[in-house]
Amino acid sequence: MSVHTSPVRRVPVTAGSGYDVTVGSGLLAAAGAVVVEHDVVVITDGHVGPAHAPVLVAALEAAGKRVTTLTVTPGEASKSLATWGELIGRVARSGLGRDGAVVALGGGVVGDLAGFLAASYLRGVAFYQYPTSLLAMVDASVGGKTGLDLAEGKNLVGAFWQPRAVVTDVATLTTLSAHEFKQGTVELVKHGYIRDPSLLSVVDGDWHASADVERLGDAVARSVAVKAAVVSADERESGERMFLNFGHTLAHALEAASGMALQHGDAVAYGMLYAGLLARRRGHADLVPDLLALIDWLAPQALPDASFDDLIPFIARDKKVARGAARFVLLRSLGEPYLALDVGAEEQRSAFASLKELVA
Ligand code: NAD
Repeated sequence: MSVHTSPVRRVPVTAGSGYDVTVGSGLLAAAGAVVVEHDVVVITDGHVGPAHAPVLVAALEAAGKRVTTLTVTPGEASKSLATWGELIGRVARSGLGRDGAVVALGGGVVGDLAGFLAASYLRGVAFYQYPTSLLAMVDASVGGKTGLDLAEGKNLVGAFWQPRAVVTDVATLTTLSAHEFKQGTVELVKHGYIRDPSLLSVVDGDWHASADVERLGDAVARSVAVKAAVVSADERESGERMFLNFGHTLAHALEAASGMALQHGDAVAYGMLYAGLLARRRGHADLVPDLLALIDWLAPQALPDASFDDLIPFIARDKKVARGAARFVLLRSLGEPYLALDVGAEEQRSAFASLKELVA
């Protein structure tokens, strides 16, 4: 991937006291002017830290700051009470005070973990996000949700804690694997379906390898703008924020039925196709061919070997279930989502049979 200088784009988020998501390339090196606090703890992981922490830390130190860097093991298992407990002890021993700051440098795991640490240490300290995976850039770093997993389930512990700023340096994507890049592309494209159809054009061939930083910056900023607009309108997830769950009702059930072996991006892509099938049956715009093209490009893991009956308990447990009825985000047409409260069991079952046939 070639990296040239690109313009800096700013996307305002009005949740909390308001902050900007700044998207551009080479932004890690300007961190000294972004983080205003003197004492800073940078949290990163063992993949991202070696590649990108030196530039960020040097920039902070050049601005006269005292920096402690803490590195966690890459992967979802680090979003745990145990890792949080170990980190918060180390933060306390570093002497970070109420006027200090926590900076997350990494993917969604580091962002959620560091964000919860910032929310809980001394009842809350300043927090900055430097997302480095495409998923964290377009999704996890925007909206103020932080959290940890329990053995009982994902994201069961958490807090809303808005960052002071989100700085998205798309040049960090040069070290992201093509596989993770594709997983993040699914959420980027989801924002295209629910609000900005111009995003759908990114899915052509190997946009990871061929994309220049200008194209990445533009797509990431557009996708962030969709999430920012939705969370700004609805910080605590009651109305419009539900549309971000397009594809997620079935996705969560598929992930659970696979024992969490199915990757989230793959599951969401299947879930969006499923929602497309439900919508087509209702006479809405036929987005199934587009969604199938996404699946072809993604080359996801196979659907778990589960029958619809196996999935029902997981669909019923989804957070979008109200008074026992499953709720699906469906699209009347591109960019026109609504919450369907009345998708009957037979409708769901036959759409699942179609999904299985289509992706077999
Ligand atoms: P992740 O943080 O595990 O990153 C995926 C992999 O990519 C990891 O191995 C990581 O080390 C590596 N990586 C990240 N950036 C890299 C880079 N620039 N170069 C090389 N390697 C890099 O996972 P993710 O997909 O970024 O995020 C998933 C997590 O985000 C989940 O825990 C999910 O619950 C959470 N999430 C949170 C929100 C929210 O609103 N808070 C929204 C969506 C997802």
